Amino acid sequence: MSLPDTIVQGAESLLAITRTMLNGVLQSHGRQHVFEFPDTAYHLPMIYALTGLAVRTVGDMELALDKAAGLVAGIHERRGMEAPTLGDALEAGLASHLAVELLLALRAIRGDEPVRADIPYQGFLSDTMQRTLGVQLVDGTIPGVAVLLGAAPDSATAKQIVRDLQENRIFVLLAGSGISRQLHQEGVEFGLESRVVPLGPDAVHALYAVNWAIRAALIYGGMKAGEMLDHLSYQRERVNAFVIALGALSQEVLAVGAGAIALGYPVISDQDVPTLRAEGICANEALVSVRDYSKMALRAVEVRGLKITVSKPPIPVPFGPAFEGERVRKEDTFVEFGGQRSPAFEWVRTLPTEEIEHNRITVVGTDWKSRYEDGGILPLAIIVDVAGRKMQPDFEGVIERKMHSNINEAHGIWHMGQRDIIWVRISHEARQSGFELEHLGVIQTATILHNYGQIIDKVQVTLYVDEPDVVRLREEARSAYQERDRRLGSLTDESVDDFYSCLLCQSFAPSHVCVISPERLGLCGAFNWLDAKAAHEIDPTGGNQPILKGTLLDERVGRYTGVDEYLRKASGGAVETLNMYTIMDNPMTSCGCFECIVGIVPEANGVLVVHRGYAGMTPVGMKFSTLAASVGGGVQTPGFMGVGVNFITSRKFIAGDGGIRRIVWMPTALKDRIREAFTKRAAEEDVPDLLDKIADETICEDPDSLAEYLAAVHHPALEMDSLLG
Ligand code: SF4
Repeated sequence: MSLPDTIVQGAESLLAITRTMLNGVLQSHGRQHVFEFPDTAYHLPMIYALTGLAVRTVGDMELALDKAAGLVAGIHERRGMEAPTLGDALEAGLASHLAVELLLALRAIRGDEPVRADIPYQGFLSDTMQRTLGVQLVDGTIPGVAVLLGAAPDSATAKQIVRDLQENRIFVLLAGSGISRQLHQEGVEFGLESRVVPLGPDAVHALYAVNWAIRAALIYGGMKAGEMLDHLSYQRERVNAFVIALGALSQEVLAVGAGAIALGYPVISDQDVPTLRAEGICANEALVSVRDYSKMALRAVEVRGLKITVSKPPIPVPFGPAFEGERVRKEDTFVEFGGQRSPAFEWVRTLPTEEIEHNRITVVGTDWKSRYEDGGILPLAIIVDVAGRKMQPDFEGVIERKMHSNINEAHGIWHMGQRDIIWVRISHEARQSGFELEHLGVIQTATILHNYGQIIDKVQVTLYVDEPDVVRLREEARSAYQERDRRLGSLTDESVDDFYSCLLCQSFAPSHVCVISPERLGLCGAFNWLDAKAAHEIDPTGGNQPILKGTLLDERVGRYTGVDEYLRKASGGAVETLNMYTIMDNPMTSCGCFECIVGIVPEANGVLVVHRGYAGMTPVGMKFSTLAASVGGGVQTPGFMGVGVNFITSRKFIAGDGGIRRIVWMPTALKDRIREAFTKRAAEEDVPDLLDKIADETICEDPDSLAEYLAAVHHPALEMDSLLG
């Protein structure tokens, strides 16, 4: 039987299995039974994106399954007795994706999903997870996503494949109990932060990866549901996913694999399969056999067409963002520094070039070698000296903030905090692998040169481990931190000539541009004005470009000629004009990875602010996920806007609408997160008790109760001009 024949049969088998389960659920629950996956605004996302059908009930599922079956029936009608082609097989693959999505929803109705087991299976991946990872996907921190199916020949091989993928910064999703169990056995950490997520014990759970990826077009791309061809193009061009199928391929797995190929995700198999090409769909091979497991990850990356530059410092432990989220627990700690157990700090300072011996790592301390060998607790100063013709003192803080993730990316080394409140742990495992104290410096020199080589010519690191030295130098560092803070505080939108753009999210949301000013950071929260300025120095033709402000046309709302001019070009004509300080009229566009949404509450003459991760209802009758679905996609949505958390406490936060006095509702977690800075801002605005007057979910989740509460506490928004004009 030809491969396309097998795939069509696999799709038919999946359709039949789903039909049987649907009939059972129709009997047990009835047509009107309502179902939704958790934390998504996109119903059954694959079906919604490709067919436009918003599945809300079991009755809707029947319609959706008929549509999927119709795709396969269409193949038979077209071909008659002729054998199906590759194109037919890909269509059958998509039909099988629709069927499997229904199958998983039906299993959830029956209480069989998410699967509870000793492995922490994630099940359905939420919109929040898509938005949380958004920045890392666009800035290249995560260059691609691998879906692993089946099981490797043994657990050590499974671990090696995953470590190879992690070292190439690939996000790994697992479908199947075999591979999940093998990795669990090898002690591989699971979770979003370690970038290895087990979805479920069966191959069909791979669909959770697909219906997660398909949402990128809805969330960021501003695409409409039902535009199947546009969705397929978006996936093929912008979503860097691929499948690694380990072990024998059943006809059902082949059908799901064909659906993946239809989306542009190549399939790498360890079986003896024929090489397949799909012109115009996959840039290189669509299906390829790789029998040597040691080459599998790199070959997969190559087939997907990813150009990954990995810079691993010369240290004896694995290194990469996948290890950033791991913790080193107390019982696993060989030696630790700081964390209120000993004085510790880190500091980047600019020195004249002649005072720096490039790449020198020095450890200063009495008997430091034997004290390190003994383990336990030690004081620590990490002083990084840099010099470079393009280096500016303003960039010291930018480089210093990266020290945290630089150290954390080393497997078995853990870092928390910044400046003089750091806490560093080196694990027994890392020590046994040969990790020396100097390696803390090696990590910094290598990563700083890799990331900032365009502005830094020379770097040296000195580590101090004697308490008197650390305490003395910490005072010098503290003066430098204070001076930096003073300088940062004096940076205002008015005091600079240039704002900066960030175009990184255009890879997913083609018309979106973040305009970053000293008082307004990017809406993902990851880039402030100094970050963007440094990034521009590093890569003058990259995603951060200076925007000459030009003439100020409207001071209240923050409209500048230069900003409008830039935006017209950079958004491809989608944005004509931007008002920096209002949400009511031509506000900033939102891509999808915003940390918070600001939305108008007309009944309260104010706005609410809700953060990503808050799962409850808001007084506008929508949860974060629903609000987010109507705000993103790179369009301006008057009355609603995505923002970074720290923008809330900026003096420019919706200044044209009345600023923070307009905030009438925020979840408690958000209030707690910004409490200190907000209280300071509220005092500046002469409303020191404002935070207490802002309602939260413990007070109300509907507009009427909100209005009652605001009246009772005399919230200032009620006294302000009407927000609606
Ligand atoms: S600053 Fe804006 S464009 Fe840049 S990554 Fe963040 S959200 Fe995307």
